[in-house]
Amino acid sequence: MIKSDIQRLDAKRRHVNERKKQFAVAVYKQQDYPHRLNFYELPPTSEISLEDFEQWAIHRLRILAEIEACSFRNKTPQETAAHIEPLLKKYLPLSANSAAAGGVIDQRLRDEREKDHYSHFILRLAFSGTEDLRRRFARVETMLFKLRYQTDDGRERRAFVESLNFDWEMVTGDEKRQLGEQLLAATPGVKKLDEENWFRVDWTLVPELVEYRTVFLRRGQAYVPMREQTSMIMTEFTNRLEKALELTSRAPRLDEDDRLSPILNHLTKNFATPDGAYNDSDAALPGAPINASNIDSLSQHFPLCMKNLHSTLRQNSHLKHFGRLQYTFFLKGIGLSLEDCLIFWRHSFKLITDDTFNKEYKYNIRHAYGDVGGDANRRGRGYSPYSCQKILTEHPPGPGEAHGCPYRHFSIDNLTSMLQATGVNERDVLKGVKEDVEKKRYHIACNRVFEWTHKGEIKKVKDDGTWEAAELDTIVHPNAYFKRSYLLRNLGKMAGDNVRTKE
Ligand code: SF4
Repeated sequence: MIKSDIQRLDAKRRHVNERKKQFAVAVYKQQDYPHRLNFYELPPTSEISLEDFEQWAIHRLRILAEIEACSFRNKTPQETAAHIEPLLKKYLPLSANSAAAGGVIDQRLRDEREKDHYSHFILRLAFSGTEDLRRRFARVETMLFKLRYQTDDGRERRAFVESLNFDWEMVTGDEKRQLGEQLLAATPGVKKLDEENWFRVDWTLVPELVEYRTVFLRRGQAYVPMREQTSMIMTEFTNRLEKALELTSRAPRLDEDDRLSPILNHLTKNFATPDGAYNDSDAALPGAPINASNIDSLSQHFPLCMKNLHSTLRQNSHLKHFGRLQYTFFLKGIGLSLEDCLIFWRHSFKLITDDTFNKEYKYNIRHAYGDVGGDANRRGRGYSPYSCQKILTEHPPGPGEAHGCPYRHFSIDNLTSMLQATGVNERDVLKGVKEDVEKKRYHIACNRVFEWTHKGEIKKVKDDGTWEAAELDTIVHPNAYFKRSYLLRNLGKMAGDNVRTKE
C-alpha cells in the first residue's frame, strides 16, 4: 500500500474513533448540585439500581404527562401550577437550599436533586427517537423548568442564573443615564429609568424583541429589560435541550441492552398514550352496592367505552369475544364478585340456553377472575382490567364489535351522537372533544367529558378541601373513571372515611 493510502486510511480511522469517542466515553464527574434548578448540561455518570432507573423515570413522566394534559385542557399557568404542585411534592420534590438546616445542602436535598437529574436524562434517552417525541419532551420539560424557576427563592435563582455564565452584561448606572432616552423609547410600558434595569446581549439572542422593535439596539448589542430575563432563560433552556436531544438521537441506540431497552420502550409508549396502573385496592368502594342487579344503574358512572359495551349488550343480548373480555375485566375491576359476574352475563345473554352459556362462556369468565386455568401467578387473581393505553392501542374493533374506545374508534359524528345521547350537549364541550380527537388526544377528550359531567361535584370537593389536587389528576384508566365518578356522586353517602380514590 502506498504512503498516501495509508495516510488516508489512518485519517479515516482517526475520524471514526473521534466519533465513537464523542458518544462512548463517559467522563465521571461527581455532581454536588449546588443549585436547586438544573439546566441538565452534564449527564449523570454514577451508578443507580435498575429499580431506581425505572421508578424515577416513571415519576417524572407522570409529572410531564400532567403538565401536558393541563396545557391540552387550556388551564391557565396559575391553574396548572396549583394542579402540579402537590404532584411535584409527591413524585419529584425539589427543595431550595434554604429548606435545609443552615442552608447547607444535606443528603435529602442531594437525593432529590439526583433523582431530578437522572430522571431527566433517562427520559431524554427514551424520547429522543422521533421528532414528535423530542418536540413534546422539550416543550413539557421547559414548562416544568419554568414552574420551578418561578417558585424558586429569589436569591438562589439569581445565583443559579449567574452560574450559567450567559454572555449577558448588566448595563451600569452611568450607561443607563447616558442612553436613557433611547432605552425608554424602545421599552414599552416603562416611563422612568429607575423603574427598570437592562442587560446587554448579542442581538441574535433576542430575535423576537428585535422583530417587534421592543428593544434598543446599538453596535450589534441589544439592551434587554430585566423583565424579559425569564423568557430568555426559557428560550435558552429549550434551545439547549433541543440540541441535546438531536445529539442523543444520533448516538448509538441502546437496543441491544436487554435490561434498559424494555424500560425505555415502555416509557416511550407511555408518553404517546399515558398508561394507568391498576391494583386490587383500586376496586375498594366500601359500602357500595356492586352486584349483578345493579350494573344498569352503576353504568351511569362508566366511561364511554364501557357505556358502549353495556348498551350494545343490552341491545343485542350478546357481545363478541374482545368486548366480553374488556367488559368482564372492567366489571371485575369495579369490585363485582365472580358469582355476580356469572349471574350478570347469564341474565344478559338472554337468547341462549343455560347449556350453551355453561359450555361456551362460563369458563372464560372464571378464567378472567383467575378461578381456573392461567399460570400459577395469575391463579386466584386473574387478569388486570385494561388501561386506556391498552384499549386505545390494541385490537381495534372490527365490524359488529363494540370494544375499544369510542373517542378513538368511532367516527366523529357517531361519537357526537353517543355523547349527546348520554347527556353531553354543551356546544363548547362537544367542540373541545372534536378538537382533542382530531389531535389524537383521546384520553384528554374523555377527561374533558368527565370534568364537564362532574363539574359541580369537583368544584365542591375542591372548595371544601375534601380532595387534594393529586386525587383529581388526569384519568388514564376506565376503572379510575368509574371509581372517581362514583365517589364524587356519592360523597357523603358512603360508609366510613376511606372513600378517596387511590393513586
Ligand atoms: Fe375508556 Fe379510556 Fe377511552 Fe375514556 S379514554 S373511553 S376510559 S378507553
